[in-house]
Amino acid sequence: MSAPVAHDAACIFCKIIKGEIPSFKLIETKYSFSFLDIQPTAEAHALVIPKFHGAKLHNVPDEYLADILPVTKKLAQATGLAIDSPEGVGYNVLQNNGRIAHQIVDHVHFHLIPKRDEKTGLVVGWPSVETDFDKLGQLHKELLAKIEAHQ
Ligand code: AMP
Ligand code: ZN
Repeated sequence: MSAPVAHDAACIFCKIIKGEIPSFKLIETKYSFSFLDIQPTAEAHALVIPKFHGAKLHNVPDEYLADILPVTKKLAQATGLAIDSPEGVGYNVLQNNGRIAHQIVDHVHFHLIPKRDEKTGLVVGWPSVETDFDKLGQLHKELLAKIEAHQ
């Protein structure tokens, strides 16, 4: 059975996949396409996208999503980011959904962002709060029920 395909003629990333506009292509597979981000936050900031037009993660079929992380891993290895020590160069994999979550291009994309120093790459805000374990436990129950109902 062949994979479903979906393209949006007006989508900039669909145009990149089809070669209608140029890109600095890196790895291409049956399901994925990767290329350099043209407004990088760090040198070799790359994007990995499914060859399926879906605006958000939940719009993309599983077989496309399943190919994205192996491609991302290969890129990390090939670009010298895959070191085993917790110290030294690192990288972030980022995928934004919706304007409030900083998504600008409405075709799912995973950023592979090298983190070599404090200034370049991803800068993260993380407004964590003290945990109320009773509330967390209640939320856990509610979520499990929702997940069960969703199966
Ligand atoms: P996001 O905020 O997650 O939607 O990120 C969209 C990313 O796409 C940004 O980092 C842009 O620099 C990048 N981008 C937009 N247009 C292009 C393009 N034609 N080629 C490469 N990267 C692009
Ligand atoms: Zn698209």
